[in-house]
Amino acid sequence: MIREIFEIKDKSLAGRIGEIITAHGKIRTPTLFPVINPIRQEVSLEVIKNIGFEAIITNAYILKKHMEKEALEKGIHKLMGFEGPIVTDSGGYQILEYGRVDVTPEEIVIFQENIGSDIAVILDVPTGGYAGYEEAKWTVEETIRRAIISLKFMKKDKTLWIFPVQGGKYLDLLEYHARKALELPYDIVSIGSPTQILEKYDYATIIHMIATVKKVLPPSIPVHLFGAGHPMFIPFAVALGVDTFDSASYILYAKDERLIFPHGTMRLKELSEIPCSCPICSKFAPQELMEMNKDERIKCIAIHNLYAIMQEIRRVRQAIKENTLWDLLEERSRCHPSLFKAFKTLIQYKKYLEQHHPISKAEVHGIFLYDILSIHRPEITYYHSRLLDNYKPTLHKGIAIVFLNIEEKPLTRTEFYMNIREALEKNNLKNVHIMVFMPYFGIVPEELCETFPLSQHEKEYDDIVLNYTIDIAEEYFRKNANAYSKILLVVIEKDIKLAESLQKKIRPILGNVEILTYKKTLSEVISEILSHVMGNSTVRSSL
Ligand SMILES: [Zn+2]
Repeated sequence: MIREIFEIKDKSLAGRIGEIITAHGKIRTPTLFPVINPIRQEVSLEVIKNIGFEAIITNAYILKKHMEKEALEKGIHKLMGFEGPIVTDSGGYQILEYGRVDVTPEEIVIFQENIGSDIAVILDVPTGGYAGYEEAKWTVEETIRRAIISLKFMKKDKTLWIFPVQGGKYLDLLEYHARKALELPYDIVSIGSPTQILEKYDYATIIHMIATVKKVLPPSIPVHLFGAGHPMFIPFAVALGVDTFDSASYILYAKDERLIFPHGTMRLKELSEIPCSCPICSKFAPQELMEMNKDERIKCIAIHNLYAIMQEIRRVRQAIKENTLWDLLEERSRCHPSLFKAFKTLIQYKKYLEQHHPISKAEVHGIFLYDILSIHRPEITYYHSRLLDNYKPTLHKGIAIVFLNIEEKPLTRTEFYMNIREALEKNNLKNVHIMVFMPYFGIVPEELCETFPLSQHEKEYDDIVLNYTIDIAEEYFRKNANAYSKILLVVIEKDIKLAESLQKKIRPILGNVEILTYKKTLSEVISEILSHVMGNSTVRSSL
């Protein structure tokens, strides 16, 4: 990788907003390149451009086969009637469909540069979704061989070149192939042939494939995912770091009278209303679409489908900007069980996501926590590693006062806290550490309580979350057993059960764990805490 053609503007999880710089202008990412049929195109390129697609993709192999002379004479932009960036595919997909193509890797490289493609692909050998291991391995080796040969025929003055990574569902092959990308001077990496896997709604496998390739590559390389065009899956792929997509789904679904929505796909005949406000759906009711002649109907549905895809792309970009991509994934994971599975698969890569996720941005948005799955979002995992791996309490054999379920945030700004600190000060009690037991986060020591997102979150939780949180608290006290000689759990009466569970877990580590329940005034609570701290407690466990 040599040329700097990609600029990252913003990030969320491992997803990014960026710009790919081509000879015909910048392409804002994440985005999708609609597949344009050079022979017969139902939706005009002007309409596609006006919907918001800045770049398109077409097939150089078909162009070469059917209109080579014209393409070479006019150049691809004039031929297609599109002044923006044009991506060309090489015929690799045709190999997958028909087994072979009658063009050599050299010919298609030279042809793509000669017609002026802005982004082009070498003639790879797609693995597909059904190949056995040995066959998959061969497709990888052969694609690498072709990638090396093809370099000799590239002028690379205007065209950006895609290095296709193959290997299908075999992750060791994908990783091996992706590492080759680091050795060869290509501009963009693509992950090949997920189409057959996507057709089976096997999103989880694609998650593994993307994560495997992305973990090998530096962030500076843009990554393209071939043939994945359903908006349902776009947020998940983007979250892992895919920048561009291409798909003919808008027209293929339209021909099948299916409408694409960010949440799924519906058949026209099943719709009594269309839950969409695009220009097509604003103008026509389902019945009117049904009554149109077929060509007109296909065109209208295709336009709707393009709007739906662009709507989701914009939604994803805005989520990256707000740093709320995780929230979008949680929402979208409920659209289909296979997406829910994809989401849980993505959680396996939480360390990778945390590495790339900007924990806080200049413009801070609070986070929402719903259930045990929310525990894996990077803000929480980041806090856990900060608490358990990097944070060290400064006291020795001191007393920990742990408040359970303090809802006011942050602790250090509450009247309660300030009064206790003042009282401890007055009595010259120094070896005392105040902290909160906070669902999802575990233990929040007073020094950390103002860090993001401890005060910037809204939550709902259940016993599963509380048990997980207790485990985090246990780990904290285990790691810092020398810091404390006594722990005082301060809790309102209704949460006594929670305090008892916590006590049960910490007792084996630090024998002296007491529970103080309270229901009286602030000053009475404080004096009770003080008497515990001073060690002259009359062993009243309740006020
Ligand atoms: Zn619509």
